[in-house]
Amino acid sequence: MPANSVIPPSAMNPTAGLRRDTEVSFPDGNAIVIAGDTLFQVYNGMLARHCPALAAQVHASAEFISGCPVVRVTDTPYDIRQILRVDNPTRPSADLQPFSVLAAWVRVGTKYDMGKLVDHAIGQLQSLFPASLDEWDDRDGPEARHGFAGANAIEALNLFQATKRFEMVPAAVYRCCQLDPAVVRHGTTRADGTPERISRENIDLVARAKERLKEHGARMIEACEEEFEQSGSCSYRWGFPDGCAEVISHLGYTKENGKEAWRDGDPLDAHFLEYIDEQEDGEDYESREDFADCTGACSKCIEEMHEQLGDMRVVVWNDLPAIAGVDQEIGDWSRGV
Ligand SMILES: [Zn+2]
Repeated sequence: MPANSVIPPSAMNPTAGLRRDTEVSFPDGNAIVIAGDTLFQVYNGMLARHCPALAAQVHASAEFISGCPVVRVTDTPYDIRQILRVDNPTRPSADLQPFSVLAAWVRVGTKYDMGKLVDHAIGQLQSLFPASLDEWDDRDGPEARHGFAGANAIEALNLFQATKRFEMVPAAVYRCCQLDPAVVRHGTTRADGTPERISRENIDLVARAKERLKEHGARMIEACEEEFEQSGSCSYRWGFPDGCAEVISHLGYTKENGKEAWRDGDPLDAHFLEYIDEQEDGEDYESREDFADCTGACSKCIEEMHEQLGDMRVVVWNDLPAIAGVDQEIGDWSRGV
């Protein structure tokens, strides 16, 4: 045989160079899905039940290996493994799945029309990328539950834009703004090593968003200096001629205790809110002499500062859809919550 007519090995052996999946495959499976370098052998009936769109491709295939119809997909082996792993797409145990699995379910599930699986995964991801400030402040639990790391925001932003989950884009952009700019520029990798980069357009979007968040932060710092004042019903007025004025002035002008994060582009950082709450003296003084031990402000003044700061944070939160460039797409952003 002349050298230039050598038959490529893949034509002689269609499984050459492929590794057989051992996690979600069955040796007696009657359908083959090939993703990247991995061959999955599954049951056609199961595929038809969980993933009819993929089953239809298998059904229409003209390629066979060992008598099984074959479909070659462009998804990564990791992503395909995640959807083949789902026993029952109506009740997957999404609650404790890592972010990477939830992302795969949304990415591949959207592509293959697995509506229930996608809805379930989105339900979990919403706790990481919420549309209300209360949920945002409560994100520590979901982050731990889903093993979420900051750089995952890159994958999330791509995912939500590609699948048109616009209500989750603002929190994804906000999270991207908290990353090292080098990570935003050069991207990261998914759980399976697939490079994940955001577009030039998104890099610019994140840079602009970060500037606007810094502006919000600077405005909040200024507002604390100018607007914090003691409550009209300050409880310590009878003890001190100036009531809580000194403590409030200190809180207004301090540059620390969380305010640094605002200036750096994280105006929703709640540490300063917690710090304010900690400055409540909480004692019920009965005599003027007792006030010598007073180290904080009365509950009325603390409450008023807490509310003022809460209002400032709501202004930022309500601006997020516009900052993320999706205000036209989002109808029901939880304004004022
Ligand atoms: Zn007071």
